[in-house]
Amino acid sequence: MKKETKAIRTQVKRSEHNEHSVPLYLTSSFVFDNAEHGRQLFSEEVGGNIYSRFSNPNTTEFIDKMTALENAEDGYAFASGMAAVFAGFAALLKSGDHILASRSLFGSSHQILTQILPKWGISYTYVDADKPKDWEKNINQNTKMIFIETPSNPGLEIIDLAWVGKLSKKHKLILNVDNCFATPIIQNPIEYGADLVTHSATKYIDGQGRVIGGVIVGRKDLIKEIRFFARQTGPSLSPFNAWVLSKSLETLSIRMEKHCANAFQLANKLQNNSEIEFVKYPFLKTHPQYKLAKKQMKLGGGIVTIVVKGGYERAKRFIDSIELASLTANLGDTRTIVTHPASTTHSKLSDEEKENVGIFPGTVRISVGLENIEEIILDIEQALKKSKVKSQSQK
Ligand code: PLP
Repeated sequence: MKKETKAIRTQVKRSEHNEHSVPLYLTSSFVFDNAEHGRQLFSEEVGGNIYSRFSNPNTTEFIDKMTALENAEDGYAFASGMAAVFAGFAALLKSGDHILASRSLFGSSHQILTQILPKWGISYTYVDADKPKDWEKNINQNTKMIFIETPSNPGLEIIDLAWVGKLSKKHKLILNVDNCFATPIIQNPIEYGADLVTHSATKYIDGQGRVIGGVIVGRKDLIKEIRFFARQTGPSLSPFNAWVLSKSLETLSIRMEKHCANAFQLANKLQNNSEIEFVKYPFLKTHPQYKLAKKQMKLGGGIVTIVVKGGYERAKRFIDSIELASLTANLGDTRTIVTHPASTTHSKLSDEEKENVGIFPGTVRISVGLENIEEIILDIEQALKKSKVKSQSQK
């Protein structure tokens, strides 16, 4: 089946009511046929649902769809993207292990690597997408995992998946790719040798800013360990959120096409705006990794990152002048969202760390929504103009 069909036709078994659309299974636990059946379920001699922290028809359906869309062997769903990111480390690594990670990461992933895992003796080294030689040099005896984000949030750095896939195989490392910005519609890291693909489902997978969720899909043996960890520690996705996310997947492909078309149009238009220092979008020829982006991504994604002239003060005025788009710290929504990463999502990074990952005081992340693109462009343009006029009158 093609992706559009998989996202719609991967369905759990119908109940006795023969429903067409899968209902919501709001139940904490599931009834055993008898004492022996209970024993068999717990010993995994037979399959079936036991307790919604372990599995539930709604979470199963969501996982099955994500597994199919990413061409993975198995998966597990989490209460948030960060629970998924954390479980990928905590379930598979132990004290003394080392992670090689791309420097440009979502703020909370950076905090896990730099603040939380070191407390348990798990170390990390950051490497840069544009310095491939550094990667192999920083692989040690105790390196167990490569963790990357491509495109990255919000720097839109691209990592060569084919190259990093080969590197991880050569050194027998687990390659774990956060595919949140691309979604399975735009790229499938497993095709390039990734062992695990991690998603914040809160973003494009929900796509309508309603629920928080996450998922990891990948190799069966690794998911088995992740499932064991999650069943015991309990960061599982709720049935309600799984039901929402599974329905959302039915429209993911068509939504991504429109997000990407709108983002490309906005990025093109902003390139000529004299109030912007730099416009970053993977499918713009001015993107430093344009050729690589074109090679491994089917579409350019829904995020446009700009650096406005005039630093933080100008960025603040620009954001405060926005009329149509939303000012919030989410992305991947039907509504266009304007975010200032340096003071919000990535505020915990030091100034040096921010600069190293391309987050400047004037950087603004635009998650381009599904509104009429002409109206989004007008809004951004009027805010750029208004924020300039104010700066001149204030002088
Ligand atoms: N990974 C990336 C790339 C993200 O952008 C985010 C959130 O913005 C996350 C992970 C975390 O996801 P969640 O907010 O669902 O925990």
